[in-house]
Amino acid sequence: MQAESAAVLPVTYQMIQQETKQDETLQSVMRHLRNNWTTPPEANELQCFFKRRESLCEADGCLMFLDRMVVPVSLQNAVLKQLHAGHPGMQRMKSIARSFIYWPNIDAHIEDYVRKCSDCAAASKAPVKTTLSSWPIPSQPWTRLHLDYAGPIQGRYFLVIVDAHSKWPEIFATTSSTATTTTRKLHECIARFGCPQIVVTDNGTQFNSEIFKQFCKSFGIEHVRTPPFHPQSNGQAERFVDTLKRALSKMGEKNVEDALQTFLQSYRYTPNPSLPDSKSPAEALLGRKVRTVFDLMKRPEQQVVHSNEKQNAQFNKKHGAKHRSFVIGEEVYAEIHIRNEKYWAEGVIIEQKGNVVYNVLLEDKRRRGLIRSHANQLRRRTLSEPTAIEDNTIPLQILLDEFSVTEPIPIHEDDGGQREVLPEANDNPLSQPVEVQLQPFLDVPGPSRLYDRDQPSTQRLAKKRSIPFRDPSSRKRRLPSHFEYYEIY
Ligand SMILES: [Zn+2]
Repeated sequence: MQAESAAVLPVTYQMIQQETKQDETLQSVMRHLRNNWTTPPEANELQCFFKRRESLCEADGCLMFLDRMVVPVSLQNAVLKQLHAGHPGMQRMKSIARSFIYWPNIDAHIEDYVRKCSDCAAASKAPVKTTLSSWPIPSQPWTRLHLDYAGPIQGRYFLVIVDAHSKWPEIFATTSSTATTTTRKLHECIARFGCPQIVVTDNGTQFNSEIFKQFCKSFGIEHVRTPPFHPQSNGQAERFVDTLKRALSKMGEKNVEDALQTFLQSYRYTPNPSLPDSKSPAEALLGRKVRTVFDLMKRPEQQVVHSNEKQNAQFNKKHGAKHRSFVIGEEVYAEIHIRNEKYWAEGVIIEQKGNVVYNVLLEDKRRRGLIRSHANQLRRRTLSEPTAIEDNTIPLQILLDEFSVTEPIPIHEDDGGQREVLPEANDNPLSQPVEVQLQPFLDVPGPSRLYDRDQPSTQRLAKKRSIPFRDPSSRKRRLPSHFEYYEIY
């Protein structure tokens, strides 16, 4: 019965390592990187790697694009299948992919995969629209819950409980929808996450019952019922019921309980565009990213070492370490290593990742491109120096790709040269000065806003800057030392 789910093993870092050895293209890319890749390759499959060469590096036999693993062709289908578990939409799949993995044309492959999924196609034929709820979003998680029943589907009722703040769903497949069943399941949720202040329901008989009334009273919960014939007042749960129905119908003949858990897992741990900073419901409710099978694809060194605050405090006391912080747009020197030699390269802070990790745009003679540095590897530059960002040299496509600035120039993950967006007057398109709007990266308040892919980017595009491209230096590629500080999701 569960053979289907058990048979699909998640793709791991070791598998990527193994398959990369057999992959002609990736081996060829790594050879080029080792030999200072300056000439555009003839082979078509190498083009998109060449464009990204400044942000590619080799690590333990694997290829990495920034902090994403490059997946060899032989594993791409397995990864796509994994990304589509629970039948999430294209945007959700892309947002997970951007946190973990890369290969040329990955966005197009994802779109293609979803289009070809017959279950998704069947379910999308009957889109149901519900009116937006007029309820305000509570500032704290788990303060207002919306309850509703769906079904019966395959002889089961589904009690849907959604937290209005985080959109975290609890769904119970039940054989009845009585008041006793309802309070029992709600009690389970209270035991897990605490008492909400308010529960919102429609006028179903189970919610109108004395049992339910007494239950709420005993936990000090205010029970708000939506006006009769106005069910959209409970829109949170209503909409969720709709999402669930479509998800279950996509799962086809699969066991309902299995299908339900797969759906919940996917929904809870995927970035949600309706939440601030596109957090996942799990992050919004639990305050941390939850480990998923996608973490298995990360380099072991990247994996999280949960910092113990007490330990940190002790370390800081003992070593006299001070908390060092930088602001976005600040000019810094970043510690890099060139041929075993420590070197301070000029750069600009473009994003903060976590407490002590920063994305730095290097604009130095000897090293350019995006790197990630620990605060201890950064020094402030004097303010009297000219603003070097005016002529920084990061390839436009990588900037746009990484920060998802999709307007005004439409950009694709990669296009294999078919839908080129860069000027083509020269053999090397990047050797032309390219207009790019960097300002949005400098004035955003919080770190994750940079990844807020659902906001119209035109709002964030304030100022244009010209970015000429310089020929790559003759440095040798090696794994930057700051990789050990890589932030973990
Ligand atoms: Zn599907």
